[in-house]
Amino acid sequence: MNLRTISMNNLKLIGPFKQLLPMTGLSPKGAIPDSELTVLEDAGILTEDGKIHSVGKFDELRKAQTGAEIFHLEGDHVGLPGFVDSHTHICFGGSRANDYAMRNAGKTYLEIAKAGGGIWDTVTQTRKASKEELIKNIVKRANRHLKNGTTTIEVKSGYGLSIDEELKMLRSIKEANQSTSADLISTCLAAHMLPKDFDGPASAYLEEISSKLFPVLKEENLTRRIDAFIEESAFSTTQIEPYFKKAKEMEFDITVHADQFSTGGSMVAVKFGAVSADHLEASTQTEIDLLAKSDTIATALPGASLGLGCNFTPARKILDAGGALAIASDHNPGSAPMGDLLTQAAILGTFEKLSNAEVLTGITFRAAAALRLSDRGKLAEGYLADFSLFHTDNYNEILYNQGSFKPCMVWKNGELVHNKHKTP
Ligand SMILES: [Zn+2]
Repeated sequence: MNLRTISMNNLKLIGPFKQLLPMTGLSPKGAIPDSELTVLEDAGILTEDGKIHSVGKFDELRKAQTGAEIFHLEGDHVGLPGFVDSHTHICFGGSRANDYAMRNAGKTYLEIAKAGGGIWDTVTQTRKASKEELIKNIVKRANRHLKNGTTTIEVKSGYGLSIDEELKMLRSIKEANQSTSADLISTCLAAHMLPKDFDGPASAYLEEISSKLFPVLKEENLTRRIDAFIEESAFSTTQIEPYFKKAKEMEFDITVHADQFSTGGSMVAVKFGAVSADHLEASTQTEIDLLAKSDTIATALPGASLGLGCNFTPARKILDAGGALAIASDHNPGSAPMGDLLTQAAILGTFEKLSNAEVLTGITFRAAAALRLSDRGKLAEGYLADFSLFHTDNYNEILYNQGSFKPCMVWKNGELVHNKHKTP
C-alpha cells in the first residue's frame, strides 16, 4: 500500500484568493497597527486531513501538488481564519424579549424581577426544558454563528444552578457538539448567582458545587473550565477565592465575569492565573495595568454594552497598556440577545478606535488563546483548516460594513460547511 497516495488524496487546494490574511507574525499582546498585517495576494490554502498543509501563492501550490483536489474560486475573495467566540451563554430555554422592552421603557431591575423577568426567569425556563430541547436550541444557535464565520464557540452552563441541572446543561453542550460542525468549548458557570431556592449562604452553595459537581465534571469529561460571576449582585471576591482554589487544585482552567458594574473581579482573575477576565466595563487604569502585566486575556463583550445600553470595555486603554484583548459576543437571552460577533466587534472598533488588525486578532487567535487553544485563529501550517471567505477584493470592506457583510463560504476542518454560491 502506498501511504503517500492516500495522503495525496486528502489534499485540497482552495484559491486563488485576491487577499488572504493569515494573521501570522502578530504579537499576542498589545496594540497592533494595520501596517503589521500580512496580506497575501493571489494566494491559496492547501489543506490535508482537516489541517492546513501550507499557505502560499495559488499557482505555485498547484504546480507543487498536482494530486490535490482543486476548489477553484471564481471572482474576488478575501480569506480570514474562522472566528472564535470565547464567551457565550447559548444553552438556555425561553426568551427575555419582555424584559428587554421593559428595561428600555425605563423599568428598574427590581420591577422587572417582580414582573417575573430577570435571570431567574431564564433559570426556570432552562430547568423546564428537556435535554433534547436544549440540544436543539444550542445547535440552532451554533449553526447560525457558524454561517457567519464563527467556527469555534465557547458555551457556558449557569442557568441550572443545582448539581443536576448544571449537569443537564453541560451534558447537552457535550452532545450538541456532535451535531454541529462548529467546535463547542464548554464552561461550568454554576457560580452565576446564588440560586433563589438554595437553603443556605453563598459559601455553602459554592462548597456544595465544588465538592460534589467538580468531580463529576472530571469523571464525565464535561469541561476543563470553571467560570464565576464576581459582582455585588452575584458573588464577592472573598466568597469566590476558596471556590477557585479548589478549581485550581483540580486543574481546571479559570475564567471570570469581572468588573462589569464594579471592580474586584479582575484582581481575583490575575491572582488565580485565570485564562481570561471578561466584561471589564468598570475597570479603571489600576485594573487595566494589572491585567496588561499578567497572562490573563482581557475580553470585551460589546454585545452586553449594546444590549444594556452601557459603556464599552476600555479596549483602547487595555491594548495601549500592553494587554491582550479578545472580543466575544456574550450571546445570552438577557443582556446580549443579538449574538452577532462580527457586527459587535466592528462597532467596538468604531467606539474604541481600534485598528482592523486589533479587531481581527480579537476574534481570531487572541480569542483562541482565551480558550487556551493554540491550534486555530491563524492560517499556517499545522493549524486547523478553519476559514471564511468574503466576496470582495479588499479586506477593509469586512469591518467597514459593520457586520452586514457576511461570509459567502465557511470551511471547518477542511470541509465546506457553508456556501452561499451553492455551486461547488
Ligand atoms: Zn457572560
